[in-house]
Amino acid sequence: MELDNVQCLSSVDGTEEEILHHHTTHHKHQFPAKANNVTVVPSAIAPATSVHELLECPVCTNSMYPPIHQCRNGHTLCSTCKTRVQNRCPTCRQELGDIRCLALEKVAESLDLPCKYYNLGCPEIFPYYSKLKHEAVCNFRPYNCPYAGSECSAVGDIPFLVAHLKDDHKVDMHTGCTFNHRYVKSNPREVENATWMLTVFHCFGQYFCLHFEAFQLGIAPVYMAFLRFMGDESEAGSYSYSLEVGANGRKLIWEGTPRSIRDSHRKVRDSHDGLIIQRNMALFFSGGDRKELKLRVTGRIWKEQQNHHPDAGVCIPNLFS
Ligand SMILES: [Zn+2]
Ligand SMILES: [Zn+2]
Ligand SMILES: [Zn+2]
Ligand SMILES: [Zn+2]
Repeated sequence: MELDNVQCLSSVDGTEEEILHHHTTHHKHQFPAKANNVTVVPSAIAPATSVHELLECPVCTNSMYPPIHQCRNGHTLCSTCKTRVQNRCPTCRQELGDIRCLALEKVAESLDLPCKYYNLGCPEIFPYYSKLKHEAVCNFRPYNCPYAGSECSAVGDIPFLVAHLKDDHKVDMHTGCTFNHRYVKSNPREVENATWMLTVFHCFGQYFCLHFEAFQLGIAPVYMAFLRFMGDESEAGSYSYSLEVGANGRKLIWEGTPRSIRDSHRKVRDSHDGLIIQRNMALFFSGGDRKELKLRVTGRIWKEQQNHHPDAGVCIPNLFS
């Protein structure tokens, strides 16, 4: 298994009351969007055909944006699909040529459209081009699976991903805002990227991913622990966390702000935004004969006062640059 033989023994000794925040993020949405300046297609001519359906690419079903293409027989096609169909109309198989459908392009430009994540709760409505810009940063766009160490293509909202981590990745789930983890590895000389652990914490009505892994930092083998917030960066800034590891009268303490899972696991790791423990120090903390890694990492997550945290994204450390 990719887990190598790291074990994570944990006991949650947090007894603090959880403050549950139930976000009511699901706005009712009106679809189709307002289309004030568009002439409605008379239903006698085209029953059940809305302007939005006309603008749906018959091949990929995405909304078509200018340039919109058509074949000689008038079948329309989005520009992405046009590059894929080898100059044959997918509807009638005739040669496609290079004919634009200007009338439909004008209609498209005149429309206000809902964000494509409307079914995930986004209430926003935009004119054509701003819609594209918005969708790239929309807060309702699905998140990627935060699991590291394998290429997982799962995307979805937070409740979906929490269930996915539990069911498909068999991730440890804990409730509470303090933690006390032991990471045990019998052959600490092998430091590879493949050595990592993920634990999910549920507190303040939110979910947090605690990552622990071994990797090579330059020529130095290190262990690193950091926290990611399952939500957007703006909200991640409302929380802080601390991590502590030590033994024999020495300890390392890290205090930071969890990063959003919008930032990939690798990006956070490569920016060194977490507790980094040199292997020699880790073995010292492990006690014994330095043959086995036995790290006890304790930590806490807390919520910052609303007006004390700096704007998200302002002070993300990156020791590489
Ligand atoms: Zn298409
Ligand atoms: Zn055709
Ligand atoms: Zn949106
Ligand atoms: Zn996954």
